[in-house]
Amino acid sequence: MSDKATTVHIQTYGCQMNLADSRTVETLLRNAGFHIADGIEKADVILVNTCAVRDSAEQRAFGKLNSLSRWKSEGRIIGILGCIPQELKEDLRSRMPFLDLIVGPDDYRELPRLIDERLGLASDEPAYVATRLSRSELYDEILPHVTGDVSAFVTITRGCDKFCTYCVVPFVRGRERSRPLSSITAEVEALVARGTREVMLLGQNVDAYRWESKSFADCLSAVAEVKGLERVRFLTSHPQDIHVSLFEVMAANPKICPYLHLPVQSGSNRILGLMNRGYTRERYIDIIEEARALVSGIALSTDIIVGFPSETEREFEETLELAEQIRFDSAFMFKYSVRPNTKAAKMPDDVPEPEKIRRLEKLIAQQNGISRQRNKAQIGRVDEVLIEGFSPKNNKWLFGRTPDFRPVVFSPNGEGPGQVIKLRLTELRGFTFVGEHIIK
Ligand code: SF4
Repeated sequence: MSDKATTVHIQTYGCQMNLADSRTVETLLRNAGFHIADGIEKADVILVNTCAVRDSAEQRAFGKLNSLSRWKSEGRIIGILGCIPQELKEDLRSRMPFLDLIVGPDDYRELPRLIDERLGLASDEPAYVATRLSRSELYDEILPHVTGDVSAFVTITRGCDKFCTYCVVPFVRGRERSRPLSSITAEVEALVARGTREVMLLGQNVDAYRWESKSFADCLSAVAEVKGLERVRFLTSHPQDIHVSLFEVMAANPKICPYLHLPVQSGSNRILGLMNRGYTRERYIDIIEEARALVSGIALSTDIIVGFPSETEREFEETLELAEQIRFDSAFMFKYSVRPNTKAAKMPDDVPEPEKIRRLEKLIAQQNGISRQRNKAQIGRVDEVLIEGFSPKNNKWLFGRTPDFRPVVFSPNGEGPGQVIKLRLTELRGFTFVGEHIIK
């Protein structure tokens, strides 16, 4: 049984899945009697939840952990969670000898016991390593301790079976498994009862969701039926598994937000083949056309990698042309980095670094121009904005989002977080809109 005074501080890096996992860890620890601290100063235990998807993310996490090592001399326990422990396991002991706990994403239930045991040990004992990968762990009965967040993450699948050749996720998060639909709706109901108005359904590939005879479209419909819930979003979709029934459900249900994040990764069929993405450029364009035809006003975002092994200038131009043709509302763009143990790591990383940077800068410049044009076209439009909280840049203003995920700031007129109000989008500041109340 843990010491009731033991406090834990959790820092999170990486994607929304990691943020959702940190909530799960927080709940597991609270249920075991630990306290959760907002700051490091008050914490007995510091946990860093890490991301291994890109080399840059991994380096950032290592930098953070190294800077935390000074707390060790003050008697703190320091642990690393998430994808990096799963990737490097025992190797982390020699690489970061100050670590006390090395715990992968499927072993979080062990954390209360491991922390308790560690509290009784000398600080120079080697770190505990818990990196078992599970085919069944879903943490599905662990309802995250969320108090009144307007928007909350709900994990519906864990792991991935796609094995894209550049990606470590199948190795560090294990095989794909779906959560029972009843446990998803129970979590959403619990969140709504505590004040949540919007949920984001999360999975590495939500379109692969299968529970008994239920598909992802069925899951979305069921969640949208939860009383008191205002909006449903989802992340991430995969072009190989996406089905037209998803767009039909989106079109039929106003609670499901008209926003789709569909990673394309490359505009070249040869590179898509080398990436093992399982679709062609032509199929991707067909899906986008289907989405735009069925879901009125749908906003589209994507992920793109440039400089994949052997990518030629012409193949890079095919990516530019695809992005120009589709005109995404936004995009997350990266240069390829080698991830250990992946199939692509065995391919020669032969696009020189300065060339990768040049291609990335060219793509970003093009996409930013397109995003600005698409945003400008929205000026004057009146839309419903779900207020999430105060603007991070000006705490006299509120911040919210339109159904198609456009950020809006505005001067309040008595409203507060959790409300949905109609605003006119009047101007753009960078990629954020300024909204104005409608005078009747
Ligand atoms: S779909 Fe591909 S890129 Fe996405 S998590 Fe799975 S293996 Fe990685």
